[in-house]
Amino acid sequence: MASLKTPWRSLTRLWRRSIRARVVTSTVVLSALVIGLTGWALLDQVANGLATSRREAVVAEARAGFEQAQAQLDASVESEPSAQSQTLTQMVDSLTGASAGQRTHELVLEGPLASGDAAPPLRSSSVLDTQTIPADLRRRVEDRSGVFWRFSRMPTTTGDDVPAVVVGSRLTAPGAGQTYAMYYLYSLRDQEQALALVRRALLVGGLAMILMVGGVAWIVSRQVLNPVRLARRIAERFASGSLEQRMHVRGEDDIARLSTSFNQMAASLQSQIRRLENLSRLQQRFVSDVSHELRTPLTTVQMASELLYESRAKFDPGTARSAELLKRELDRFQDLLSDLLDLSRFDAGAARLELAQVDLAAVARAAAQDPVLARHGIRARVRGANRPALVEADIRRVDRIVRNLLSNAAKYSQAAEIEIEIGQDERRVSLVVRDFGVGLRGDENLRVFDRFWRADPARTQGGTGLGLPISREDAALHGGSLQAWSRAGAGTEFVLTLPREVRRDGGHETAPAVRVVFA
Ligand code: ADP
Repeated sequence: MASLKTPWRSLTRLWRRSIRARVVTSTVVLSALVIGLTGWALLDQVANGLATSRREAVVAEARAGFEQAQAQLDASVESEPSAQSQTLTQMVDSLTGASAGQRTHELVLEGPLASGDAAPPLRSSSVLDTQTIPADLRRRVEDRSGVFWRFSRMPTTTGDDVPAVVVGSRLTAPGAGQTYAMYYLYSLRDQEQALALVRRALLVGGLAMILMVGGVAWIVSRQVLNPVRLARRIAERFASGSLEQRMHVRGEDDIARLSTSFNQMAASLQSQIRRLENLSRLQQRFVSDVSHELRTPLTTVQMASELLYESRAKFDPGTARSAELLKRELDRFQDLLSDLLDLSRFDAGAARLELAQVDLAAVARAAAQDPVLARHGIRARVRGANRPALVEADIRRVDRIVRNLLSNAAKYSQAAEIEIEIGQDERRVSLVVRDFGVGLRGDENLRVFDRFWRADPARTQGGTGLGLPISREDAALHGGSLQAWSRAGAGTEFVLTLPREVRRDGGHETAPAVRVVFA
């Protein structure tokens, strides 16, 4: 069964995928149908024509024979049965004068026809069975005068069976008025042979025609499909980034026009993409330049604010508060600037990994002791971290992701406990930070990774809105992923999944190696 399935599957696949296979197959099937039907009708016509003309000829010939026989019978005046019988035998011999090999017909004479069941005596030009004469023809001949015919089959001297026309008539002897039935059997062997010849010619011609039509369909579909295939290949290369790919335009036909349109579309897309790329490069440059340019004055301002902050005890309360605010906001500014610089490095493709073997289980255990949790009065329960979970990773980036997840969990958890869980299989390791806090609504678990997006527009919790986007870029740099699942009011879990070995093929491990609670 299985061995049958494979060729069947590849056939259906070929049928689905190849227009040429469909065109050639349907053309061959349809032309075979048309040629078959035409051939059959033609053969029928020829067979009918041959049979009819032969029948008309033989009926006329037989009619003459019957008249001759009746005349001979009328001339014989002997009423003596034995003498009459001899006359009749002679008559059969004279009417079928030619020797058996060349004879085109056989003759059967039955009679005298007795009323009753006894079989009448039979004389025939060759050994013929009474079955050779169709029963209904015999009945007609015995009942009525006239010439009647039927198509039947007759045996030949070589022992085979050929189609035949049987023509019969009734003869009446003078005197006693005895009746005889006389039958001519004409072989249709020549017609049958002619018909076989025609049939063979039609078959060979039909097959040749079907092959020719199939071949023509193949050549024509090749002519049409080759440029389409070329267009497909060029479109694929275009889609994979080779924006200079163009189709070769030859002639003025539809394919040429299609190529021209394709090239116009490609040129327009290429210029749009180039424009957008330039724009985005300009924007990235702008952000990166601005961040760099701001860094030096910011450092100076920060140093000055640090001085003011240190001396705040000497100021009046209003000025001291301003010094505090100044320092806090400058720290935020500093964070924002370093986040922006990080992002611009990702955008420019300049981010590099410093890889080493990292035990995510140890990272999870250390995270549970992070002071940010203690500051919020939160305990962390660690699960699955009792055996090593080694991955190839950049520890600095992994720490940054985990720290960011912890600080978010601390900020948004409403319970006194969060969970840090490790799951692993042979290909990847997942680290989950799960809190039981406000959670996220609708598609917010996707939007959290948008730059500057924050669920709380009032921004009461501080932060830049860049922590998660940066963390996701960090995870992606390893060929891993950072995903969020949440239920509003119940909590949120962020799952960092890293491959055991950094994937350099551009793929990402997205399936978590741990059971997701808020899915
Ligand atoms: P930041 O925390 O600096 O604002 P993030 O990128 O880390 O920026 O987070 C973006 C937004 O995602 C947050 O402002 C918050 O609204 C939402 N968010 C992040 N973590 C959680 C969490 N654990 N529970 C609920 N909301 C969260």
